[in-house]
Amino acid sequence: MRDKVLQILEDYDYDKIKIATIGSHSALNILKGAKEEGFETVCVCREKESFIYKDFGVADHIVKVEEFRDLLDDRIQRKLREMNSIMIPHGSFNAYIGTLYNLKVPIFGNRVLMEWETIRERQREWLERSGLKIPKTYAKPQEIDGLVIVKYPGARGGKGYFIAKNPQDFYRKAEELVKMGIISEEDVERAYIQQYILGVSVYFSFFYSPIFDRVELIAIDRRYESNVDGMGRIPAEDQLGSILTPTYTVIGNIPLVVRESLLPRVISDAKRVYDYSRRIAEPGMVGPFCLESIIDENGEIYYFEISARIVAGSTVGIPASPYSYILFDENMYMGKRIAREIKLGIEKDLLDSMIF
Ligand code: AMP
Ligand code: AMP
Repeated sequence: MRDKVLQILEDYDYDKIKIATIGSHSALNILKGAKEEGFETVCVCREKESFIYKDFGVADHIVKVEEFRDLLDDRIQRKLREMNSIMIPHGSFNAYIGTLYNLKVPIFGNRVLMEWETIRERQREWLERSGLKIPKTYAKPQEIDGLVIVKYPGARGGKGYFIAKNPQDFYRKAEELVKMGIISEEDVERAYIQQYILGVSVYFSFFYSPIFDRVELIAIDRRYESNVDGMGRIPAEDQLGSILTPTYTVIGNIPLVVRESLLPRVISDAKRVYDYSRRIAEPGMVGPFCLESIIDENGEIYYFEISARIVAGSTVGIPASPYSYILFDENMYMGKRIAREIKLGIEKDLLDSMIF
């Protein structure tokens, strides 16, 4: 696969390379960054949201599709190749397209690792083998012996997640959510049951640079989730009187800086995650990745997820987060960081080290 992609790249006109992505998730971040670094941009979008990318002035070219999945159509792929496009994958690729092995357009990143992130067991294996602390998982609802959070396969932005304290509680709440049409029977069977960590959630956005051979901390955010972040506004008495199940549907993100003494551990952990990624699939992690954690009152960091691409939360870092600003001494954010790496790759003739 990679050989084929590198062959396509070889046929590109390097003076006319365009940065392309699909119009959702973090496209504003990616396309703005590309333009700032001097690239022309391509946004693959549906009719209903194309005006966003036009009106914000980030899309030089719009490729219209009925559905995001149409990105895989031969005609669309050919068009993207003709425009010398390098695609930047993000969360909507996971949600609407799935595995990227059928996409015959060069992408910035590592397709194998992006597939690993869509499988929770693989994510766990990656984090665990990198030596990071992770929440315990339960194979069956009957094994639940403490507070757990119940999730489902794939990236669904926390929709339908629930908390249970024992097997009975699990079945009662699962049934309720099925009745309400929020989850399906199949979801219940395939539920991913994880120890609930009491603490605060912190999302660390990193960038691995093949050019500088280093892991960079670009930004930190936390999520704003409905309705778990709204429930605290209801007095406990009223919460008890109604059947309120906290849900974790992400609505937005909030920028964050962390206690500085946490950084040595987090950045060392990110380096270990990078090191192990090379054992999964050479050349290992390329570009943006995110470690998603809950930090408890003792400063213990539990990583519950990894994303092997840009996360939407990194958009809080435009035009710069305190971290990227300190590191680069200029405004820097994930979309621009990606484009900078591609630009350096072209200049130094090292593009093939970052394309998959
Ligand atoms: P969307 O294009 O908004 O439907 O999102 C595509 C995928 O990315 C879904 O799985 C979302 O849950 C996830 N996603 C979108 N925006 C965010 C965000 N701000 N933070 C975290 N995840 C997100
Ligand atoms: P996820 O879809 O795995 O990113 O999780 C969505 C949200 O659920 C996170 O942003 C956290 O607020 C919460 N969450 C996930 N896993 C845990 C956990 N093990 N303990 C506590 N909260 C969690």
